[in-house]
Amino acid sequence: MRLNGLGVSPGIGIGKALLLKRGAPELRFRVPATMVSREIERLARARERSREQLQQIRDRIADSTGAEHAYMFDAQLLMLDDAMLIDRAAEIIRSERLNAGSAIELAFREIAALFDRADDAYLRERKGDVGDVVGRVCMNLRTGRDSLDLFKHLEGPLVLVADELTPSTIAQLDWQRFAAFVTDAGSWTYHTAILARSIHVPAVAGLRDASYVIAPGVLLAVDGATGEVFVDPDPAVLDQVRARQQQRAAFEHSLDEYRRLPAVTEDGIRIRLEANVESPDDARRARESGAEGIGLFRSEFLLAGRGHEALGEDAQFEAYTRLVESMAPGRVTIRTFDVSEAQLPIDTPAGDGARAPLGLRGVRLSLARGDMFQAQLRALLRAASHGPLRIMFPFVSRVEELREARAAVQRAAETLRARGDQVPPVPVGVMIEVPSAAFTADLLADDADFFSIGTNDLIQYCLAVDRTDDRVSDLYEPLHPAIIRTLRLVARAAQRRSIPVSVCGEMAADPVVLALLVGLGLTEFSMAPTAIPLAKQALRAVRAREAQTLAARTLRARTAAEVEELLTTFVAPHERKALKF
Ligand code: PEP
Ligand code: MG
Repeated sequence: MRLNGLGVSPGIGIGKALLLKRGAPELRFRVPATMVSREIERLARARERSREQLQQIRDRIADSTGAEHAYMFDAQLLMLDDAMLIDRAAEIIRSERLNAGSAIELAFREIAALFDRADDAYLRERKGDVGDVVGRVCMNLRTGRDSLDLFKHLEGPLVLVADELTPSTIAQLDWQRFAAFVTDAGSWTYHTAILARSIHVPAVAGLRDASYVIAPGVLLAVDGATGEVFVDPDPAVLDQVRARQQQRAAFEHSLDEYRRLPAVTEDGIRIRLEANVESPDDARRARESGAEGIGLFRSEFLLAGRGHEALGEDAQFEAYTRLVESMAPGRVTIRTFDVSEAQLPIDTPAGDGARAPLGLRGVRLSLARGDMFQAQLRALLRAASHGPLRIMFPFVSRVEELREARAAVQRAAETLRARGDQVPPVPVGVMIEVPSAAFTADLLADDADFFSIGTNDLIQYCLAVDRTDDRVSDLYEPLHPAIIRTLRLVARAAQRRSIPVSVCGEMAADPVVLALLVGLGLTEFSMAPTAIPLAKQALRAVRAREAQTLAARTLRARTAAEVEELLTTFVAPHERKALKF
């Protein structure tokens, strides 16, 4: 069987499927024979924990509102002992060697199918109650992360198959174990795809129902460039995919020489290329790929999978210092947390507002949580004594926010000085990723030491296209005339005020688009480390003067297709083929 999705991280990965379901970590995989009894014990323990919890809930409800209201939990307690549920799941573990979470899910599917066939509406409704019990048992199976521990013992290479894969889940797993990621949802600029490219793991997104049709343990061959996923491939297909793997390796090898070469256009315009990274340990990879600095460190990745302590000043200081020292003398630009309330490792009020991408997020959240912001700023200012560091604020939408954030930096510096710490001057900049910021870039420039254009969000908010939704990914069009005009506007505002401006969104990593960006007057870019050698190769073949003519033409184009056509003819056809590979 072959599934087709969006290739979001090029490369070939071959391995056995490991399944992960929403509300992670709910992993589905086959266990070795020696682990079968351990899985059955985990299931039994989860049943007992569920029983205690249900009994407590039932007693509480009976005490407060009367025994007649507690009957639903009596029914759930009985379900825990129904032979079709836990006993059946244990049987599945034995016969199919599935982990406990997958086995109980399969047992539930069997029961649900029976209920669906029932004529009696009352009985059909009981499916929801069984689902509740199953959810509780699964939650208790997850307690203590036993399944993640168990997964450590599985033989690799593995391909992670998920309905939706959040970057924080990836951050908790051992990436080295994965040959590829494949997901039902997601798109090119979804953070998981960005992370996959950054850590060089092939990935395919937008497969819709892969996590449903792929069985745990089955062999998968994934092509992260074409978006193909071969399920249980026959030997001939596997040979073909392996041949592609060799071609890909040869192609990457051919770019090695560019790592050490300067990024300069054919007519001598010096370009600054930096790396986007998500972990302080990625600095080495950034340097090896030929990056001059770190143009974007997404500091919120420090919080992924960690508890409240990750927000502490010292923990952050240690991480930022490690990054700055390992990149020195190269410059490091650290973006303050770009998360919504729900992504903070602390209790936040429940409700949709806590998750909303247009709610309390980025710099707004930092300003609303003064203590948290001060701790991050102090950590950053202290780390700045260890190497060149710049602070950058995400999701700024107006001048007042930038001013308030700058005042917060000032306060953090005063606190440190009062403690007797030295605070070096630190440039403070702003991400241009909200349309209002782009259109007032000239005003923001008065209060900013630098700009970095976040095209990932800028495109989604300018075009009103959710960057994470694969169903509208063909409308997510970086070459839309609105985007090109907006980029020119920001580039001009920065030039007129003489402040540096870079592009750190994924758009910069497309070597064909780079020529256009250079033509628009942009000379600083930050991208995944793996994209840097190819970007250097492309830049060294471009003449800035010709790129300017190209940019002028694209500014007159009426559609993205016309812009694409202009770019295609600008980049020699043979070169474009290589770049697309
Ligand atoms: C952007 O929005 O372009 C960006 C670089 O930030 P992120 O992808 O983390 O939103
Ligand atoms: Mg952004």
